[in-house]
Amino acid sequence: MRMVDIIAKKRDGLSLSDEEIRFFIEGITDGSVPDYQASALLMSIFFKDMDERERAMLTMAMVDSGDRIDLAGIDGTLVDKHSTGGVGDTTTLILGPLVAACGVPVAKMSGRGLGHTGGTLDKLESIEGFHIELTEAQFKDQVNRLKLAVIGQSGNLTPADKKLYALRDVTATVDSIPLIASSIMSKKIAAGADAIVLDVKTGEGAFMKTDEDARLLAEAMVGIGNSVGRRTLAVISDMSQPLGFAVGNALEVKEAIDTLKGEGPEDLTRLCIELGSRMIVAGGKAETQEQAADMVKGVLSDGSALGLFKAFIEAQGGDPDIVDHPGKLPSAKTVLNVDAPEDGFVQAIGADDIGLAAMHLGAGRATKDEEIDLGVGIVLKKKVGDEVRKGEPLAEVHTNGRGTETAIAMIREHIKIGPQRIAPPPLIHADIQ
Ligand code: URA
Ligand code: CA
Repeated sequence: MRMVDIIAKKRDGLSLSDEEIRFFIEGITDGSVPDYQASALLMSIFFKDMDERERAMLTMAMVDSGDRIDLAGIDGTLVDKHSTGGVGDTTTLILGPLVAACGVPVAKMSGRGLGHTGGTLDKLESIEGFHIELTEAQFKDQVNRLKLAVIGQSGNLTPADKKLYALRDVTATVDSIPLIASSIMSKKIAAGADAIVLDVKTGEGAFMKTDEDARLLAEAMVGIGNSVGRRTLAVISDMSQPLGFAVGNALEVKEAIDTLKGEGPEDLTRLCIELGSRMIVAGGKAETQEQAADMVKGVLSDGSALGLFKAFIEAQGGDPDIVDHPGKLPSAKTVLNVDAPEDGFVQAIGADDIGLAAMHLGAGRATKDEEIDLGVGIVLKKKVGDEVRKGEPLAEVHTNGRGTETAIAMIREHIKIGPQRIAPPPLIHADIQ
């Protein structure tokens, strides 16, 4: 088999055989396919797309390029959730305890990542003492006992995806539906998921800026998952403004605790009920989504999800007292208000720019060696559609001195006030099964 023939075939819009796709991925992994030929094939895929069989084969070939997390010995169906980026997205911290309290095991591998705020691991590490190094035996035992454990990324998962992603980044081939979908799905499958619930964001602060692109990506991932035997479903959710109020690490932990107490922001709570109930159906603990939604609301209102969150923190060495005393979390030295310049209604809150403003304060990393300041960030006081009076706070800036002026200027520019009354955007744009 020759790489040049595979490139020519895809260039001409033909479907690649399973063997050809495996040859390409194995060659990327062992270095026998040079970057220039891989790049040419990526560009051909960008223009000519892949059918459902090719996408599924590409995904499984990438899974097979490295290790798989072996979760044998954990009881029940393992359901994983994936959100495609976003700003102030605290859902993972809430969904873990929520679905675990309903009996669905959550064995989560999380990363730090780059972006506006830290990853789930950074957020958890704002809890004093919390550690993410568990042996495989401890991890499985904790999942069986509590139904919830979170560890850091370990092992050599999907090395072919790592190489391809780096190449795509420098060859203008990131924005390709079959390449994005197989990249995301290969990582979920290698991490041991039996079933997958996808939260595909749409809007200004999302990876996919339009509903149409978000739908194409969601359908591609659902198609791959179901054709390789992993029950997969997706919702398309709004990211035209940040989710909830808090954007920042410790601030989001506090927001997650508030939500588990039943006192969280309305949009964040509702999204967690939507995603959580789908995870419970996918995990086989409820027949219908209505039943599952009742279970989720039950564990929120009777305190069992909050209790499970405490037990989880304690099991991983953290101080569970932060749940009752969130003042113990890291906090910024100074809190400044950004006030409304006039009366009116909030027309838009540019999610990307609010995220960037938080990054200027030190809440996120631009490169992987940067240090995060866990206490800083932004807390919105208003959301799109809310009425405001001149001088009322639109947002709080939690700062330790870094980037304050820039952040304030960005917030002023990107929270738009106008005279027209407008409806808030819908939270769920579509449901893809
Ligand atoms: N996120 C991923 O993991 N892969 C992509 O290709 C794009 C976004
Ligand atoms: Ca938030």
